[in-house]
Amino acid sequence: MNRRLALWVLFLTCIVLLTPPRARAAGEAFKAGVARKAITPTGPVWMSGYAARTHASEGVIHDLWAKALALEDPSGRRVVIVTTDLIGLPREVSAEVAARARKQYGLERSQVLLCSSHTHAGPVVWPNLKTMYDLLTPAERESLQQYARRLVGDLVSVVGAAVADLAPAQVSMGHGSVGFAMNRRQAVAKGYAIGSNPKGPVDHDVPVVKVAAPDGKLRAVLFGYACHNTTLGGDEYRINGDYAGFAQIELEKAMPGVTAMFTILCGADQNPSPRGKMEMAAEHGKALADEVRRVLAGSLCPVRPPVRTAYEDVSLEFAPQPRSKFEEEAKSKDRFRRHRAEAMLAALDAGHPVRDVLLPVQVVRLGNDLTLVALGGEVVVDYALRLKREFAGTHLIVIGYANDVMCYIPSQRVLREGGYEGGDAMIYYGLPGPFTDAVEETVVGACRRLLERTCGMH
Ligand SMILES: [Zn+2]
Repeated sequence: MNRRLALWVLFLTCIVLLTPPRARAAGEAFKAGVARKAITPTGPVWMSGYAARTHASEGVIHDLWAKALALEDPSGRRVVIVTTDLIGLPREVSAEVAARARKQYGLERSQVLLCSSHTHAGPVVWPNLKTMYDLLTPAERESLQQYARRLVGDLVSVVGAAVADLAPAQVSMGHGSVGFAMNRRQAVAKGYAIGSNPKGPVDHDVPVVKVAAPDGKLRAVLFGYACHNTTLGGDEYRINGDYAGFAQIELEKAMPGVTAMFTILCGADQNPSPRGKMEMAAEHGKALADEVRRVLAGSLCPVRPPVRTAYEDVSLEFAPQPRSKFEEEAKSKDRFRRHRAEAMLAALDAGHPVRDVLLPVQVVRLGNDLTLVALGGEVVVDYALRLKREFAGTHLIVIGYANDVMCYIPSQRVLREGGYEGGDAMIYYGLPGPFTDAVEETVVGACRRLLERTCGMH
């Protein structure tokens, strides 16, 4: 059977298996619960995302939030989606939140989806990107560790509050589009640099999920965009959520009582254009919020039960690097390269060379109407474009930066072209170098496996 035919068979089987006759006939639907908690650092703290910053934050533009949406189908099966105005949640934080959510609320790992906005104007979430923050005093490091500990508690409590808030709800979805994301991989004399590539691939889709009370009153809206949340540069020292923060504030101001939740999609090789100033972040946020409101005002597709979830950690292997590479790099004038080399040599000496990373892959399928594929890491746009094309019948939203942000996840094209997203960024993540050529097929294969598993056939 060729692949296209196989996908059609899979798709049709899903339709049959996932459409409960009772739910369709009686309008039996989800329960939904919504909760939020401010996670703004209480004092000066080192900010994440730019290696160039030299000191802690100075003031706050607006609050950062953790927000949760719990959904329960008529059989009692639940999923809780959490969004955060943060650079990303490291595995250490996600695993602890998931373990406590299991203990306190009976949620399996696959039933908790932890997303982020990837703002570069928020706090460091320890130990994410810790190789980048070597100028910290012991007190500054302790305050980051304290922030991460408090964050775990806040995320667990927001999950619990969303579950406690479960009440009958209607879920529906639609799509819009905004154009401020631009491909940033600019061809230069020697490969690719971070710049502007107006002809490079982009994904301007703005998926919008609406959650309303049975009387139609809007309770929450979940939306996303495939673009680095980096309108502001490393010279910004005031805590804020960048364009995604402004978009959520704009929506909540326009629709009082509604919780607006943003997650970044596969925007690792995309930057906002233009960028560099606070008013630009506000303008991008306004453009995104306006588009979400336009979609909400239009006709949306109903999203029906059941809830099906799956989660897997997938090993992505690094191309082997000789010890001599790190011995050479240990003499580098670049302190980040030096730190990476020292870490790799220490791992070699200990007999545990770093050979792979674990990529969290999660699928949340809501009936036959909406499927979230959530990948960890900084995922380039090629993945969203490919997955949406190959699984066109499953109404996909492809989320990046979910559950862990351990490095960039290049496609085969980006891996071969090289540059920052292709392998250079591994320096800042303290990892040995580029992935092997198998990376894209491994990731797509895992997505296919989880999509099949949530199809109801297993
Ligand atoms: Zn990034």
